Amino acid sequence: MNLKKLSPIGYWLLFAILIIIVMIILVVQDILKRNVEEIHEIKETPTYVLKIDYPITNNKKINKEIEDYIESKKKEFIVTADEASSTINAQYDFKINYEMYSIENVEFVHLILYSFTGGAHYNQEDKVWIYDKDTNKKVDITYFLEDDTFSKLQTITIDEIKKYYKEKDYVIDEEWIKEGTKSKENFSIFKIKEDNVEITFPPYEVGPWSMGNVVIQIPKDKLIGIIKPIYLQYEQIDQPSISIPQEKRDLSTLKDKKLLAFTFDDGPGGKTTTKLLDNLDQYNARVTFFVLGSRVNNFSNNLKRAYEMGNTIGSHTYNHFNLYKLDLEEQLKEITNTNDVIASVTGKKPIYLRPPYGNIKNEAKEQSGMYTILWDIDTEDWRKKNADKIADHIVKHAHDGGIVLLHDIYEYSVDGALKAMEMLKDEYAFVTIDEMIELKGKTLEPLKSYYSF
Ligand code: ZN
Repeated sequence: MNLKKLSPIGYWLLFAILIIIVMIILVVQDILKRNVEEIHEIKETPTYVLKIDYPITNNKKINKEIEDYIESKKKEFIVTADEASSTINAQYDFKINYEMYSIENVEFVHLILYSFTGGAHYNQEDKVWIYDKDTNKKVDITYFLEDDTFSKLQTITIDEIKKYYKEKDYVIDEEWIKEGTKSKENFSIFKIKEDNVEITFPPYEVGPWSMGNVVIQIPKDKLIGIIKPIYLQYEQIDQPSISIPQEKRDLSTLKDKKLLAFTFDDGPGGKTTTKLLDNLDQYNARVTFFVLGSRVNNFSNNLKRAYEMGNTIGSHTYNHFNLYKLDLEEQLKEITNTNDVIASVTGKKPIYLRPPYGNIKNEAKEQSGMYTILWDIDTEDWRKKNADKIADHIVKHAHDGGIVLLHDIYEYSVDGALKAMEMLKDEYAFVTIDEMIELKGKTLEPLKSYYSF
């Protein structure tokens, strides 16, 4: 093409085409960026605690549905909490966790809502959105089935539910089970796993309220000819690893400085955690992550990387429940499930526990066999929402043996931590909890809670 021979209209056309190309690139970049984004909301009042984490998908319609769902549930909860606050003196609790994953061309978003409004237990509510990433259309369980096999799936499911009843010593109610499995809407909460398909029926759907969630797992070999082969063959890529090498630092080089342990709760996070990990070497820093079991699979790459670099990985329990509101069995489940999921990524079970809100009773400490690590420098980063204020707080309160509490799911927290490191680097060495204990020559006791060293 000879540019000199282009007419003015030709120039304008060329210009327009260039603009369109640039716009397409920007839109594509935006979509890629959105893929890892999530929304966090955290709020604490005298009446309730609210902690919501949910993803932004590439599907605008589904994002809107997720937002609307959360908004209505949140409103409902706040009304209940406010009404009760005049009569009951208990802090209510509302949280939303999620899991997002793809199988072939299909994206799954699984929200799990927990609320505590008195009584002995948290209430759980599951909600699943599934969409085809190629067409952007929502799909349901029949999408995964061979033609006309839904009735076969129903029959197998009914058998499995009966088995579940028997195991739990409930009297089988055939009518109830049939009613609760009659349409595909009853099969809205399911998960295609390594060797089974897990289907969850909410309380009251296939049995009495007291049964709670009925969760059945149908082995994949029973589903041959029912589920499409492509989804039966699906295998999770992240297999439990036997052992992953972890870098260890020469601690003698850190001896001459004061020691400060930065600790990050509520992750692992996405971009924010990546940013933190990218910048640690700059300050010769290693830190500690107290991660939530429910988030490990969503961000296993960052967790693995953090571990390999030599950062300490501790547990912040699975669902961020207030352990005071659970019975002992539930408390231990929160702890062991987290240890298991962390070990499936790092190959090593954590030994340090940071209970949400610092709440843990001696019996859980004793029976879990974990060491309780709390903090003595609370940045209140989630309230400040400002990197400079967070950094100032750390610098002002830093002392030898101190433990700083932060959250790596917020950008302002990561920025604040890095700024503080910049200001403190000549005076302090930034160490993990493991390194701190070794350098201070401490032996931990299971029943104690450690605020500093
Ligand atoms: Zn927390």
